[in-house]
Amino acid sequence: MEKNFMPDIKTMDEIYEIQLQGLKWTVKHAYNGSPFYKKRLDDAGISPDDIRSLDDLQKLPFTTADDLREGYPFPLLSVPIEDVVRIHASSGTTGKRKVLCYTKKDIQDWTHFFARCYQMAGLTRADRVQIAVGYGVWTAGVGFQLACEEFGAMAIPSGPGNLDMQCQFLEDFKTTVMCCTASMGLLMAEEVNRRGLRERINLKKMIFGSERSSDAMRRRIKELLGLEHMFDIPGMTELYGPGTGLDCIYHEGIHYWADYYILEIIDPDTLKPVPEGETGEMVVTTLKKEAAPLIRYRTRDLTRLIPGECKCGSIFPRHDRILGRSDDMIIFRAVNIYPGQIDHVLSSIDGIGSEYQIHLERGKDGRDYMTLKVEREQGLDSSSDEALKKRIAEEIKKQIMVSANVEIVDYGTLPRSERKSKRVFDHREQ
Ligand code: ZN
Repeated sequence: MEKNFMPDIKTMDEIYEIQLQGLKWTVKHAYNGSPFYKKRLDDAGISPDDIRSLDDLQKLPFTTADDLREGYPFPLLSVPIEDVVRIHASSGTTGKRKVLCYTKKDIQDWTHFFARCYQMAGLTRADRVQIAVGYGVWTAGVGFQLACEEFGAMAIPSGPGNLDMQCQFLEDFKTTVMCCTASMGLLMAEEVNRRGLRERINLKKMIFGSERSSDAMRRRIKELLGLEHMFDIPGMTELYGPGTGLDCIYHEGIHYWADYYILEIIDPDTLKPVPEGETGEMVVTTLKKEAAPLIRYRTRDLTRLIPGECKCGSIFPRHDRILGRSDDMIIFRAVNIYPGQIDHVLSSIDGIGSEYQIHLERGKDGRDYMTLKVEREQGLDSSSDEALKKRIAEEIKKQIMVSANVEIVDYGTLPRSERKSKRVFDHREQ
């Protein structure tokens, strides 16, 4: 018997009502439980009683990653520390990490809505889910794991890397679903292909977390493995972890769990909401989170809301895939460029592989120069390189309005990674 993890919500008005109640609860809970939030709200002249409608969200001050770092080790803590049953920390390169606390109920809530992702992806209890993501304090393999068990499918906690073992598990355990980064998915697809394993495995779906994946890369993975579906699972440690939404089988945006958080899209410069459908920064407010609630947390992730109803009939609203981070923005000759835009252009061009690198240099003339290194499609010889270069440069110019030098390199020569592939190499002096 399959369990149902989708709520019985029929209209957006019902969602708005849940959001209003959740917002009121969150502001009150944070105000009473956290000296940080109390001060922040007092400074803004807002008391919990001022929240009467969803429009009042706009009155609330933002929370940022700096607030999390300043509150180290247990930022935004809004419950007694004894009620905290787990912490996770997000990876960071220097300085203080972002640490997030969870109560028992937070873990249960996360597990519940994560199980929805497996349901949205059309899994059943008969599925076998190879969880090839990291387990540990930085990452949330445990989120994939608990939700899989709650859902009732078989979890195979393989962790990342170790392609040899991954291939053996695919073959011996007849894994049907694999959860990994898209980069790891590409490595697996190429490895399965190289070993001629495709007919001996039963892999139907992949769920990609923690990395933006280009359309070209996804097409390549799908072809090599003969997959039915690939899904994107968004998530950040601040907002529980992965599993805060999933695209449905129509893959026209990510349905997000609007009964657990409110998503706003703002202009990162003016901090005002952008018109529906326009790209901006995701800002999230949690509705049920106890240990470390988020009030208008600026995620730095860029995306847009997708207007209208989805063909699948789900009531849950949709946002687009993550286009990039406002921090990843490249400023090149006074043009703002996100790596996602380059992905998008390259994905529309035939004859090239999925891997590419963006190199930025400052010339002797003081001007900035961009070189794109792009892999030729597998099996093609170099005779079409000149035409490809021209085509890519033209499309980049047309769509992003910058000039780039293009180098075509042999298929398989750019490095593959089991985690996130590095795409941008900025050699300009700072
Ligand atoms: Zn849908």
